Amino acid sequence: MNNFEALGIDEKIVKAITDLGFETPSPIQEKAIPALLNETTDLVGLAQTGTGKTAAFGIPLIQKVDFNSKKTQALILCPTRELCVQITKDLTNYSKYFQGTNIVPVYGGASIETQIKLIQRGAQIIVATPGRMADMIRRKKADLSEVRWVVLDEADEMLDMGFKDELDIILDTTPKEKNTWLFSATMPAEVARIAKTFMNNPFEVSVGAKNSSAVNISHEYYPVHARDRYLALKRLVDCNPDIFGMIFCRTKIETQEIAEKLMKDGYNADSLHGDLSQMQRDRVMERFRSKALQILVATDVAARGIDVNNITHVIHFSLPDDIENYTHRSGRTARAGKTGVSMAIVNMREVGKIRDLERILKTKFTQKLIPNGFEVCEKQLFSLIKRVHDVQVSEQEIEPYIDNVYKELDDLSKEELIKKFVSIEFNRFLSYYKNAPDINVNTSKEARRSENGRNFDDTKTRFFINVGELDDINKSQLLRMICDASGVRGNDIGRIDVKNSFSFFDVESTSEDVILSSLNEQTFNGRKIKVEISAKKDDSSSSGKSFGRTGGRREFGGSGNKENNRSSFEKPKYESKNNFDSKPRTGSRPRTDKPRRSY
Ligand code: AMP
Repeated sequence: MNNFEALGIDEKIVKAITDLGFETPSPIQEKAIPALLNETTDLVGLAQTGTGKTAAFGIPLIQKVDFNSKKTQALILCPTRELCVQITKDLTNYSKYFQGTNIVPVYGGASIETQIKLIQRGAQIIVATPGRMADMIRRKKADLSEVRWVVLDEADEMLDMGFKDELDIILDTTPKEKNTWLFSATMPAEVARIAKTFMNNPFEVSVGAKNSSAVNISHEYYPVHARDRYLALKRLVDCNPDIFGMIFCRTKIETQEIAEKLMKDGYNADSLHGDLSQMQRDRVMERFRSKALQILVATDVAARGIDVNNITHVIHFSLPDDIENYTHRSGRTARAGKTGVSMAIVNMREVGKIRDLERILKTKFTQKLIPNGFEVCEKQLFSLIKRVHDVQVSEQEIEPYIDNVYKELDDLSKEELIKKFVSIEFNRFLSYYKNAPDINVNTSKEARRSENGRNFDDTKTRFFINVGELDDINKSQLLRMICDASGVRGNDIGRIDVKNSFSFFDVESTSEDVILSSLNEQTFNGRKIKVEISAKKDDSSSSGKSFGRTGGRREFGGSGNKENNRSSFEKPKYESKNNFDSKPRTGSRPRTDKPRRSY
């Protein structure tokens, strides 16, 4: 009997998951599966993505659902379309040795008519986002009267995304006698309310403490001046030649900008954010998932629920406002028992945020230095040598040419030949990095200057806005609203204090006019927005909600990196001499300044 059969799992499912490469159950599967198979129970599972929770609820569901019936017996709710598609795919895989299965994904942004048809064909399991499911219910297109199991996956995310009313409607519509299985990475009050209102003495499983991050992620931070953020990003990427990573930015505009710069500089990168059409998002995700794309630059919202295995690095180009977002971002790596690295590029003001993160996540963050040119070149050189060493030679295909190749290279010794081959790639990095400056900041010196009263926010104006916690807005949402309405970049927005019925935020003073004119035309939840320049710049202390910090310049909530507008970002001074835009070029390729790595 193998490890899965010992949990009581049907052999057809064991066969299917063995095909997927599952060998041993993950901790949450070990705890949840026997309970869900053997008992008629509600369940609360505190677990993040990457722990194997989809199989923890999916396997018992497949085993319990009657696929001979056409009735909808199980409903799985999750926050995003991405996750919805992923769960459907996973459950379809687990049930591939069963006959008559119909597991239907239901999500917004796609034809509701097609989804209705699929449901009406007899969907035993519906996997849905709350908005579209509530819509189906309103249109009376889904018969949920025989639902026996409701799964709430990533409940905290669903509530965070404002799906509270939809969840209440859906849970009220399904039969009272059902079992509810709720999974959440965190247990904020709203999730606890759902558990209390809709569940009966739930069985509890927890893997990892609340707000903890996976132990197999190493957390690093790199202090640099704000103006050097992008250079730092490129060095981190260059120093990790095999990176398959995600880069997180705070806003859509910043995300787009960084992705474009990387692409222009020849990196195999693309962006994922809310302004893309569904088709564009699908295309980007498809390329990323198949590893045709090496670097995905994303906003927190767009990246929710992304489940791509083997992500090696998560880079925080800018830190998020909320602790949950940090945990969520870094949880994109180190999935399914792998290890991963979470790297935060921070300016001096943000070092305090790192301390907050360490305290709240009870995790050590290691301060690291941005590698210098020599280190990058060394890494690239040995990566190249490894590739040469490991490359598969297509003997047959190369055969017709090989005699002539030998002839052409006849005059070179083995040593010369090696040097020349290696130099073809290596020279590009060498010339790019040979005069590369040290961009690390001396944190102790900078910290002293900061303490001595240097004001990092001197160039910012403080604004008052008439929305606050009572309007159900948090720092990230406020930041997004400001950026979206005004076009001001996230990096130009500093401290944000959300109060009860109003908020304050700091923005580069050069953007005063655009902030006033654009935001004063907006409405929020039906209320007309009013924005004014606040009389006193320091008239509020932090609400301390996001990262539990109060007052002072070190409060979590703004990068203040006004330098980012510098055009010299594209052409750092040490490059212009060599007439390189930003990166060395590859021999015969068109002007691309970054070596492309094959996957
Ligand atoms: P999840 O937490 O459900 O998003 O799962 C994360 C990843 O781990 C998915 O790609 C699963 O296919 C994979 N996975 C889940 N359970 C196992 C297991 N027992 N052994 C190996 N891989 C697993």
